Amino acid sequence: MTAENVRNDKSSILLIYTGGTIGMKEDPEVQALRPFDFSQILEEVPELKKFAYRIDSYTFNPLIDSSDVEPSHWVRLVSLIEEQYDAYDGFVILHGTDTMAYSASALSFMTEGLTKPVIFTGSQLPIGAPRTDGKENLISAVEIAAAKDAEGHAIVPEVCICFDNVLIRGNRATKVNSDNFRAFRSENLPPLAEAGINIRYNRDIIRLPSSWSARPKFHKALDTRVSILKLHPGITLQTVRDILCGPDTRAVIIETYGAGNAPSKEWFLSAVKEASVKGKILLNVTQCRAGSVNMDIYATGKSLKEAGVLNGYDSTTESALAKLFYLLGREGGNAAVANGLEMDLRGEISK
Ligand code: ASP
Repeated sequence: MTAENVRNDKSSILLIYTGGTIGMKEDPEVQALRPFDFSQILEEVPELKKFAYRIDSYTFNPLIDSSDVEPSHWVRLVSLIEEQYDAYDGFVILHGTDTMAYSASALSFMTEGLTKPVIFTGSQLPIGAPRTDGKENLISAVEIAAAKDAEGHAIVPEVCICFDNVLIRGNRATKVNSDNFRAFRSENLPPLAEAGINIRYNRDIIRLPSSWSARPKFHKALDTRVSILKLHPGITLQTVRDILCGPDTRAVIIETYGAGNAPSKEWFLSAVKEASVKGKILLNVTQCRAGSVNMDIYATGKSLKEAGVLNGYDSTTESALAKLFYLLGREGGNAAVANGLEMDLRGEISK
């Protein structure tokens, strides 16, 4: 990792506030957290004014708890970034933590060839709370979104999550803790940056666009006909068939054990084969937080491969879901989707 001599004095940042704990306050009437006016967030973080950046904001109306996030919100975010792309050097998205890894994964696939940072952040404690983590998260996210190298190029032109002093690639993130400040982990890829006294960037793994002058492509067509089958001891044929062969499902992510293993029972494999024959796209992703699928190690994994199940490598479930929404939303049949799943499109898998 290197501490960069960053040039960012004249950067302009668009802060997009979608909701989440970071902007909530206790409503004494209902004794629950409710969102409050965005202008107060900037009042709560006067430190931001010390940067010489231009910071504009855009607030979602209505604000949402991220448990209510839908693919239509991702389309809204991508459309906004597309519209405002030339006007800003970077984008910071304030978002609830619960589904932040899904949203960051989705935006990574929906934006292709980014030349500017899109940084998600939020907090575990509301920004007005005395021990809030929101201030630090927001300040670091803004600084990273504004950071440029000596040539004036963004240092991190990727969709990322900045949380608890660590910057991780959005499509590698998983929320792992509901109350610790280190809410997100990227088990299969080291952080892209760490914020200490300096912000240290891991430039060896930060992805750069093939051209700095080409405009990114913004993809807004998503096909959400994807289900997730999480294996567990005691799972029944009924459950497996309902999920794998559901009439409205085009693809199923099978969350398998360990290195991609599943029960070897005949009824299970028959259900998988039936789904495959019906034209369902089946993707193997491990339930383990770290490591990869390898269907060549055990007989149970081999049978899945023979039944037509595709390898999800070391993908998170969040990223696999977003990648499938994106690939299914593009023109092309199952072969094109399978081909896309095999490829590392946005740094989401290591092969
Ligand atoms: N429920 C909140 C949300 O995801 C939690 C948070 O922001 O941390 O919107």
